[in-house]
Amino acid sequence: MLVLVINCGSSSVKYHLIETEETAEGETLCKGMIERIGAVTSIVKHEPVGKRHIKDSKVISDHNEAMQEIMSYLLDEKNELVSDEVKIEAVGHRVVHGGEMFKDSVLIDNDVLEAIEEAFDLAPLHNPPNLKGIEAAKKHLPDLPHVAVFDTAFHQTLPRRAYLYGIPNRLYRRYKIRRYGFHGTSHYYVSRQYYKITDLPKEETRVISCHLGNGASVTAIDGGRSVDTSMGFTPLAGLVMGTRSGDIDPSILFYLVEKEELSLNSLHALLNRHSGLLGVSGYASDMRDLISEAHNGDRRCQQAIDLFCYRVKQYIGSYYAVLNGCDAILFTAGIGENSPLVRKKSLENLDGLGIELDDKKNESVTPGMVEKISSDNSRADVYIVPTNEELVIAIDTAKIARATRHSP
Ligand code: AMP
Repeated sequence: MLVLVINCGSSSVKYHLIETEETAEGETLCKGMIERIGAVTSIVKHEPVGKRHIKDSKVISDHNEAMQEIMSYLLDEKNELVSDEVKIEAVGHRVVHGGEMFKDSVLIDNDVLEAIEEAFDLAPLHNPPNLKGIEAAKKHLPDLPHVAVFDTAFHQTLPRRAYLYGIPNRLYRRYKIRRYGFHGTSHYYVSRQYYKITDLPKEETRVISCHLGNGASVTAIDGGRSVDTSMGFTPLAGLVMGTRSGDIDPSILFYLVEKEELSLNSLHALLNRHSGLLGVSGYASDMRDLISEAHNGDRRCQQAIDLFCYRVKQYIGSYYAVLNGCDAILFTAGIGENSPLVRKKSLENLDGLGIELDDKKNESVTPGMVEKISSDNSRADVYIVPTNEELVIAIDTAKIARATRHSP
């Protein structure tokens, strides 16, 4: 089944056209994105696999025009992607926050649209553009099933003791203030890839999954279920990220309000956009830039890398305790898949837990491949598993679309 996967941000729409198989495999035929929607000119990229890529600038004023651009490209006969015989049969949407309502992906109907809107308060930066994307896609493809796949859904199995905060319980009851966790589709995907390649029964396997990208999180997975995760009520918690602070003592906020008279908006910007690797280094949020500057002797860039890796290590240690041991640690996303330095530093001096990297394997990973990088003596395996969130969205969408088709 040919599925169009849509991921909408506030000023961008990314898409993947994926041919899915009933065996839960899939092949990406084309991907692309439209960035800087609403700016003077927007950037349009269409990247059909094995064919000529297109990069262009156009005036695209909203998400609806962005969908129009995507559909015109995909339906254009000369691109040979979609035809009378090969039609898009379903659309899958990434939705960041599903609150407590969604434990799985769902077919989008009016109730689901309302529930996504109800979660605006919980994810003000993400859910509104996600909803805009759904509305625009429905306008252009009104007769197809549209499916929502939530970043939070995989973590709905967290036990109470992991999702409650130490604040008055009425705040949970009234406002649903609790840990939700994010990157769920990625943690789900890499753990499933691990069970598949090792042939281990997921019921008996304990995994720590480290999604280290611009946004970053670690998840403890016991018997295939997420039991704890480093992001919280919002994606600001946990690890130090590109521009997000991760965990800090909440009293710092009161202190800053007093000392610098910061408004709520400035506090929000400080912690979300000016902190993390960027804030600590004072130089860049991008790990590649930091590594190269640290190599040239920049001390603050080195400190940012050290802090990033130390926090990853702390969470790995914490989840060792949560899981009472661990069979495998998985690294994924931009940094996790590509940086031998970060993997090495995050697992440094963990021989007390029996973790031992094979330095040579860690240094010589083939990009895009699943590879084991721990030594044969290591008590837990360490793997690199490239993530593919779009594939999870496409597979879930196809499954739900097939079930819808077969239901009376
Ligand atoms: P993502 O959000 O998953 O796209 O990851 C983006 C992050 O991955 C950025 O901080 C990049 O600098 C980092 N990254 C990508 N390639 C490398 C690499 N070869 N070495 C270190 N970091 C990398």
